[in-house]
Amino acid sequence: MNPLFKQFFPPTVVTFISDSTMDYTLKMDNPRQELPLTLEQKERLFQQTDIPIQKLVNLVQVHQDRILSISSPQQYTQASLQEADGWITNLKNVPLVVRTADCLPVFLFDEAGCIGLIHAGWRGTKLKIVTQAVDMMVRQFHADLARIQVGFGPAIHQCCYEVGEEFVQHFPQETVKFNGRYHLDLVAANRNQLLQLGLKQTQIFDVDICTCCDHNYFSYRREGPKAGRMISLMMLKN
Ligand SMILES: [Zn+2]
Repeated sequence: MNPLFKQFFPPTVVTFISDSTMDYTLKMDNPRQELPLTLEQKERLFQQTDIPIQKLVNLVQVHQDRILSISSPQQYTQASLQEADGWITNLKNVPLVVRTADCLPVFLFDEAGCIGLIHAGWRGTKLKIVTQAVDMMVRQFHADLARIQVGFGPAIHQCCYEVGEEFVQHFPQETVKFNGRYHLDLVAANRNQLLQLGLKQTQIFDVDICTCCDHNYFSYRREGPKAGRMISLMMLKN
């Protein structure tokens, strides 16, 4: 349904990444409380994915490294609006979603029958959230490090991701200086962590889209606080 990962994940895995034609920001009724997707957002997502999303659950993303493990329908329901930046599941027909606008959405799949979807900004990446998700999938769902597949969705790339000098400490290998300024390669930081875990390059696929360069996507760096959010969705099918 979404061509970005069509050649990479098998047909039993549904993936979808929205673009700037629909804003999937969670609306807030006050600055502290986020609400689930609106009916309009849900209907649009259903049109775009053909997945029944009446019971779609959203996380409240906080740029940390908490990952929820979902192995029962009850756990899925209870995950609603919990503070977490990723989740894994071995359930079929249970859609995982994260929202991004420059941060990296990371899609994980293993043939043992499990998936994971992670929101990785620089803070989560520094906390190795994707590595932690892979570890959890191995320990809890018998995923295999030699087989697990990892997809990187659209995110801000180093061309546009200017950062402060302190990032040299955070990411010594992936903070590069050009035109007299420091830039972070967020995708490389996540890829390098996976390679360090023992994954091979062939297990990792990057759609190679910079959200800041490509105006078909929302970008916090380009648009500022008014930027909308893309939604990424992943689901195991029967
Ligand atoms: Zn760019």
